[in-house]
Amino acid sequence: MVGVDLLDRARRAGLVVLLDGDRLVVRGPKRLQVLASEVIANKPAISIALHHEVDWRTDAMHTHAVQAVSHGGPLPFMVSRDTPPPPGCCLSCGDPLPRPHAVRCAPCGEAARRVVRELYPVVRES
Ligand SMILES: [Zn+2]
Repeated sequence: MVGVDLLDRARRAGLVVLLDGDRLVVRGPKRLQVLASEVIANKPAISIALHHEVDWRTDAMHTHAVQAVSHGGPLPFMVSRDTPPPPGCCLSCGDPLPRPHAVRCAPCGEAARRVVRELYPVVRES
């Protein structure tokens, strides 16, 4: 899978790659310009990989959230994997975090927003 491999290589090098709607956003130091250009040139494959990252997390979080709220409980901190995360990693999936002091990685953050929007459609994000 070109998209997954390229996305993994870009992130390990230090690029932040995410989707903002249909727009592919690539951020990082200028020294990674060639790699960033490669990511942009492969936008369709990268977009598929990014959507997949969020989709499986959304499915996992949705299951946990629905179980909790269907019994009248509060919405829990939603996780995409049940295993405890290593120190300094995403508290939801356990993947390495791109920046210190973050709680969730970008795909887990987007997955959590999707679940909340579905369960609480009247909540507005500011
Ligand atoms: Zn995560």
